[in-house]
Parts: sequence; C-alpha cells; structure tokens
Amino acid sequence: LAKEQGRGVYRFFSPDLDDRVHARLQLENDLRSAMDNNQLYLHYQPLMDLASGECIGTEALLRWSHPELGIISPVDFIPVAEETGLILPIGNWVLRTACTQAKKWFDAGKSNFRMAVNLSRRQLDYDGLAIDVKRILEETQCPANLLELEVTESSAMQNPEQAIVILNSLHEMGICLALDDYGTGYSSLAYLKRFPFDRLKIDRSFIDGIPTDADDMSIVQTTIILARQLRLNVLAEGVETQAQCDFLKLHGCDEIQGYLYAKPMSSEDVEKRFDYKNYSKGCFEN
Ligand code: C2E
Ligand code: MG
Ligand code: MG
Ligand code: MG
Repeated sequence: LAKEQGRGVYRFFSPDLDDRVHARLQLENDLRSAMDNNQLYLHYQPLMDLASGECIGTEALLRWSHPELGIISPVDFIPVAEETGLILPIGNWVLRTACTQAKKWFDAGKSNFRMAVNLSRRQLDYDGLAIDVKRILEETQCPANLLELEVTESSAMQNPEQAIVILNSLHEMGICLALDDYGTGYSSLAYLKRFPFDRLKIDRSFIDGIPTDADDMSIVQTTIILARQLRLNVLAEGVETQAQCDFLKLHGCDEIQGYLYAKPMSSEDVEKRFDYKNYSKGCFEN
C-alpha cells in the first residue's frame, strides 16, 4: 500500500510522525507564552494533621488552562517544560505565586500554615536556585519557615552530592524540605538520611494497597517506623478512604493528603475549608 503511494514505507509512516512533531512544537510554543498570557495558575491541596484533624497547610499544584486543549495536567507539560528549560522561569513563577499566597494567609492569622511547592529536577541542577528562592522570599515577605520545598526521590538521586549541597543551603535559610513520592525510586532511607529532609511523603501507590495488599501495608508500616526513628515527619499521599486514614493513624503517620480530606482547589475554596477549631470566622472577609 505504501509503495503504491510512490515513496515507499517512509511515506506510510511520515504523516503520523509529522503530526506528533508538530503537536509537540506547538505545545512548546504555547507553553512559552502561557505565563505571559496568564494561562498558568495554582491549585492548593489541603494537608491534614492526623492527631488534631486540622488543616495545617497546602501543596501548590500547577495547572495550565490551554485556550484550545482545555486544562492540561502537570504530568503532561512539566516534562516539556523541563526539556525546553522553561521550567526555570515557570518554577520561579510558581514559587512567587505560592509565597504570595502563603504570606496572605499568614497575615490573615494562619501563622503556621505551610505552603509546599514542588521542585523539578532541573531546578535542583540549577546553581542559582538558592539565590532565586531567597530573593522571592524577600520580595513576597513570606517567612521562610512557611515554605516547604518538595523533591522527588528520583530527582534527589540523579546527582546526590550536588543535591545535598543545594538542599543544605535552602535548609539553612529556614525552608523545610520534603522527600516526595517516597518508595518509587531505588534508594534507601538510610542513604537519604544524609539529605536535610524534614518530612517524607509516602507515595500514593503504596497507600492504594491499604487495606487489601499485605505487602503495601507492611511497606507503609515499616516506612513510618523507620522515618520516625530517623526523626522525619511522615505524610501519606493519595488517601482516598476512611480505612486508609484509620490504618495510617493507628500506625503513627503524622499527616495525610488526599481526596478523602480534600482535592486540589482554588485559594478561595481553601479559605472556606480552614479549620473550624482555632479559626475565628471573619478573618477573610474582604
Ligand atoms: P505530587 O507532587 O506527588 O502531587 C500529588 C499529586 O497527587 C497531585 O497530582 C494531586 O492532585 C494528586 N492527588 C492528591 N490526592 C490524591 C488522591 O487521593 N487520589 C489521587 N488519585 N490523586 C491524588 P497533580 O496535581 O496532577 O500533579 C502531579 C505531579 O505533577 C505532582 O505530583 C508533581 O510531581 C508535579 N507537579 C505539580 N505541580 C508542580 C509544580 O509546580 N512544579 C513541578 N516541578 N512539578 C509539579
Ligand atoms: Mg509533591
Ligand atoms: Mg508526591
Ligand atoms: Mg506523585
């Protein structure tokens, strides 16, 4: 069939490839202008303290509202941003936006409300990261201890010695550090203890297995024990059911994040969800 079209197999495959290359180039171009056109925004997913049941902060999660394609998940465009280097300006935009929001909530009386922000592996490679973060904290007047930077296990392990240096300098500024997606890489917690992490986030894939998969349950249980022995705070990601929540509480997990408690949402919706215990109504009027 391809031969009949005159240019052999090549032609048979080329439209497909052309389409893919074109779509990819289009996405890159669109991403380049997305920031300037206000198409990027953050959603915030509440984090819950298991002992008190209170919302103690949020994780900032990036969204792209594409004019033709609709809302694109970070899973789909962060890789493009990384390959093109756009992740550096985008990452700084995320930091500035999240720190501005954290400062607003701080000023409204939420004095310990944490703002967790994801760092890409490319940001971790970038020599100017600590300087940029310091400048953004100064510009936004956000107290450093409100900011938590999340690094995935695989990002931390791509160049561990360099990552340790950068993370140490961020930690010395008073910023908290979390190890994200723990359990999905191939490193040991004993090795990772050389990093200045304050918190470990157990990956959602292990939480999924509670309460049916005995292996997942053992992994989660022993991870919590080991983390606590190493004086790391532990958060479980992707908690969707009450059974998972009960298991985690029973085994001494400190915090949870997941659809059971709250999905990622706008800053306005977070304000509506603030804890009703310590929080006096009315702070957010205006
Ligand atoms: P992550 O940092 O592990 O973020 C948690 C992801 O799990 C989020 O997906 C969140 O919406 C989702 N999630 C939370 N609770 C549940 C649950 O109960 N069930 C299920 N099924 N999912 C849940 P999201 O927002 O699509 O982000 C995906 C990943 O994209 C993030 O994983 C993070 O690695 C990356 N990402 C997001 N925002 C940024 C950013 O600003 N910068 C960088 N570098 N990466 C980002
Ligand atoms: Mg994260
Ligand atoms: Mg994660
Ligand atoms: Mg994840």
